[in-house]
Amino acid sequence: TALANDKVWHMHEAAEQDLLEQQVSLMGELANAIENHELEVHYQPKLDLMTDRIASVEALVRWHHPTRGYLSPDSFIPLAEKNDHIADMTLFVLQRTLRDLAQWHGAGIEVKAAVNISARLLISPAFFDAVGAALQVSDTSASDLIFEVTESATMADPAAALRALEGYRRMGIMISLDDYGTGQSTLTYLKTLPLGELKIDRSFVENAHEDSSDALLVRSTVNLAHALGLQVVAEGIETVECLDFLREVGCDLAQGYFVSRPLPASELLTLCLSNSTS
Ligand code: C2E
Ligand code: CA
Ligand code: CA
Ligand code: CA
Repeated sequence: TALANDKVWHMHEAAEQDLLEQQVSLMGELANAIENHELEVHYQPKLDLMTDRIASVEALVRWHHPTRGYLSPDSFIPLAEKNDHIADMTLFVLQRTLRDLAQWHGAGIEVKAAVNISARLLISPAFFDAVGAALQVSDTSASDLIFEVTESATMADPAAALRALEGYRRMGIMISLDDYGTGQSTLTYLKTLPLGELKIDRSFVENAHEDSSDALLVRSTVNLAHALGLQVVAEGIETVECLDFLREVGCDLAQGYFVSRPLPASELLTLCLSNSTS
């Protein structure tokens, strides 16, 4: 009935209002999260399948909210991207990563680290300058740094993304194309980007050992990456079957819970130390 529909509609409106209020308050709190030391960075290894060594790690931000508990990046990154919080947050992740890299290198661990850069930030000149400044005061060289940029982020403004990536590449930072396969980039555009690495999205990888069309996609992406002179990473490896399949098709690096969960810096160091002597 119309009355019932009306009621449902009002409930719907109330729920939307709640969500909106929750997001607005979360956004305000995010501004203080860095100062309040609520943000942390965890690192997930990318395993070199030729040497069985940890070649690099991906920095993943973590928010321990004082009352809401642990919040997943998927719940606050999209909010942060709507305003300038994403710049502050990413600079925090970058500075923490550079500091941790210096510490690992001091302990004799040769590893690189990747930071995720979202679409809007990628083409920000102010952020570009801030990255240069952060590298200047750090003991870590740009060649130990990787920027992960999603395929869809580059497609938002392809020409601007290309210019920005060329700038970061000149700085010495390696560029990794993240979530590959989920965007709309053409081979022609891909060829123009100054990439060093391609990451095959988890959605293609997770069933590749048992689904023949996913297997074909992963196999041809590995070949495509190699033809373009890129190293290729498969993300979301959760089983030994999946890992074996990726070895078989010649994938260079593997990342996922089966290799390791994202870890705090100190635990990552312990893992690297045991990995380098085993
Ligand atoms: P992403 O860049 O694709 O990162 C990989 C995500 O997959 C991470 O989720 C990681 O913990 C998760 N993952 C790793 N191995 C497995 C696996 O075997 N199975 C499954 N199911 N998941 C796995 P997380 O840490 O929750 O981050 C989610 C997304 O949030 C990231 O996706 C990235 O887009 C974004 N993000 C995280 N940290 C940052 C950051 O510092 N800056 C920006 N701009 N985005 C970030
Ligand atoms: Ca990533
Ligand atoms: Ca990814
Ligand atoms: Ca992803």
